[in-house]
Amino acid sequence: MPRAWSLKARPQGMPKHTDFAIVESASQPLGDGEVRIANSWLSVDPYMRGRMNDVKSYVPPFALGEAMQGGAVGEVVESNVPDMPVGTKVLHMLGWRDEAVLPAAQVQKLPDLGADDQAFLGQLGMPGMTAYFGLLEVAGAKAGDTVFVSAAAGAVGSTVVQIAKAKGMTVIGSAGGAEKCDWVKSLGADAVVDYKAGSAAKGLMAAAPNGIDVYFDNVGGEHLDAALLAANMHARFAICGMIDIYNDGQAQELRYLAKVIGARLRIQGFIVSDFMDRAAEFYADMGKMMAAGQLQRQETVHEGLDAMPDAFMGLFTGGNTGKMLVKV
Ligand code: NDP
Repeated sequence: MPRAWSLKARPQGMPKHTDFAIVESASQPLGDGEVRIANSWLSVDPYMRGRMNDVKSYVPPFALGEAMQGGAVGEVVESNVPDMPVGTKVLHMLGWRDEAVLPAAQVQKLPDLGADDQAFLGQLGMPGMTAYFGLLEVAGAKAGDTVFVSAAAGAVGSTVVQIAKAKGMTVIGSAGGAEKCDWVKSLGADAVVDYKAGSAAKGLMAAAPNGIDVYFDNVGGEHLDAALLAANMHARFAICGMIDIYNDGQAQELRYLAKVIGARLRIQGFIVSDFMDRAAEFYADMGKMMAAGQLQRQETVHEGLDAMPDAFMGLFTGGNTGKMLVKV
């Protein structure tokens, strides 16, 4: 019988195993225009934590007791749609489960970029688009800029580092621990701040003696404050995520916020879906960078559907280098 993870209780603070439960349901017959997909790779993403709270946001909350959703890659195993025959490799949003039945209109064939299937959940998928458009469009980063990016060893952050280098920028990344920092350096970062070894502000001021022009924020909190401190005149901040507060909801005081005024900073939040209609542009440019050998990627893989909660919770304790995935 198909199995799916549901939310049993809304997490208070850091999620725990008892907040999740597996539900089994009889295999659904296919309706008109529908396909059945055997999922092979499932994504866990920090934004899912927001969907576990019963609050109004840009995506509706997960309903208690019902299968959760998220990015998934799999193969069509039954089809009522001539254009999407059995064997087609696809991407869709009915993750957190081993089998999905949904209208083919809600399913995307994997682009033909010669990459591994699971790359379309990471660097060549939603996190990659977030990095690409957040850096180049929201922050307006350009050659010659000095860019600071937090959570630089994660899916989005590691892609920001590499796009920025490919486009002629100086890049400073921050990550937790020496091993992750070494990896970020190996991606081409000019300097790396280990925020677990000392304060982000001290580390950034030492790494960027001439200040920063762009901050790509994945973390919020002390990283955002450090970026305000180091910001040059007219610096641009793309506020992508604030994982530091996803579990406790408590934003810390920003000591250097008033810098926004004198330095004429531009601070802009964004959601990747703002750029979905520009996917072709993203694939074309990323394809060129891949062909030029400018993109590397790493994945942290948990095995089996049962491992979904562990993989998800690991995002908040730094359990991943590169994209966090579950192989079904
Ligand atoms: P990552 O692969 O970066 O995984 C999360 C990483 O965040 C962890 O590995 C950990 O790395 C770091 N982290 C966790 N807690 C903290 C903390 N308290 N302080 C500092 N670092 C922490 O995830 P993604 O690449 O998928 O997402 C990165 C960010 O981008 C998230 O904030 C996410 O919500 C956001 N996002 C926003 C989108 C949008 O449309 N705006 C779309 C996609 C993602 P370390 O070991 O280095 O601490």
